[in-house]
Amino acid sequence: MEQYAAPINKLIEEMSKLPGIGRKTAQRLAFHILDMRNDDVVKLAQSIVDAKKYIKFCSVCGNMTDKDPCSICSNVKRDESVICVVEDARDVAAMERTREFKGYYHVLHGTISPIDGIGPDDINIKGLITRLDEKVSEIILATNPTIEGEATAMYISRLVKPMGIKVTRIAHGIPIGGDIEYTDEVTLVKALEGRTEI
Ligand SMILES: [Zn+2]
Repeated sequence: MEQYAAPINKLIEEMSKLPGIGRKTAQRLAFHILDMRNDDVVKLAQSIVDAKKYIKFCSVCGNMTDKDPCSICSNVKRDESVICVVEDARDVAAMERTREFKGYYHVLHGTISPIDGIGPDDINIKGLITRLDEKVSEIILATNPTIEGEATAMYISRLVKPMGIKVTRIAHGIPIGGDIEYTDEVTLVKALEGRTEI
């Protein structure tokens, strides 16, 4: 392994801890940073520190935010009759990009996964139940189409349905640009189940 001065080695080591960054990429990034102007390096470092310092979870929906409640929860123009349940704060951003959904969100911060020892109490389900009042008429379950995502959707559905609230699940199927021939059976079955009239 090449040996650099200690501060460079340290920078490479920290960079390589990031997801998707191998040793080679870490080295390239480290040397790129060393080539950067001083004030740009300070800006980069400060943005990392600030993001970590100011970003928190919204006390209502669990979304990532720098003010509590978040900008979505504090927007009174949204449709309070629908709550879309997602696994991760990044899913909120993905849904928002579509500009289709006008209701509110609830972020679970994970899925039920008995193999990993994660039960219903380990994710943000209780927070969802406490939000359900007479104003909420539909819960959209937008967890991922994985075994854990399906199990979590099923669990929440069983909990919420007896409260007289409509529970829907987003349709899963063949992605745009996909090919039926190369689609796995589970996806094909889900696509069939979720078919709509045209
Ligand atoms: Zn919120």
